[in-house]
Amino acid sequence: MNKQTLRSSMLSQRAALDKAAIDVASQQIAKVFLDRYGQYESFLLYSPVRGEVDAAYIAQELWQAGKTVFYPRVAGESLLLGVCKSFDDLEAGYKGILEPKLANIINCKHIDVAVIPALAFDTDNYRLGYGKGFYDRFLAAITIAHKVGIAYRWQIVDTVYPETHDQRVDTVIVY
Ligand code: ADP
Ligand code: MG
Repeated sequence: MNKQTLRSSMLSQRAALDKAAIDVASQQIAKVFLDRYGQYESFLLYSPVRGEVDAAYIAQELWQAGKTVFYPRVAGESLLLGVCKSFDDLEAGYKGILEPKLANIINCKHIDVAVIPALAFDTDNYRLGYGKGFYDRFLAAITIAHKVGIAYRWQIVDTVYPETHDQRVDTVIVY
């Protein structure tokens, strides 16, 4: 096994999930997340692709509570941050992923809580991404008080074969 074979294996397992399974996991994870982190003020979420745990339930609760919610937008090799007040502030962008509009991009160097997607996390909280290193570069460049992975239980593996540039999260919430 190596990073690339682990990526393929995780992608095909996730492609087999149906919408009901994704929704149940996403709602249960949202509950745990909001219990633990709901008192903070600024959050980074992500738009789901290819069966990822859906952070939308978290977004809705945060918006209702008047919190600041950022989403990432791909720009070259970097991730920019845009403030979003509802799903209407997102538009299809990089690879069809919903991203904040350019007008909402903000230069922000600190976030209280970031929700980080991954293909897999290992027992040391290292993450495996899609192989472009976007989050590795991003997490190295910004201060985030709490980096929280969200994932299906089967996405936790013994190792994701971390390299020196790979970033870790502080905790992973699974269902
Ligand atoms: P992913 O994290 O998406 O699974 P990798 O960890 O394999 O992907 O990283 C993909 C590429 O991004 C690698 O070639 C790596 O060298 C590059 N990369 C990651 N982090 C950095 C960084 N902080 N600075 C420069 N290049 C980086
Ligand atoms: Mg990496």
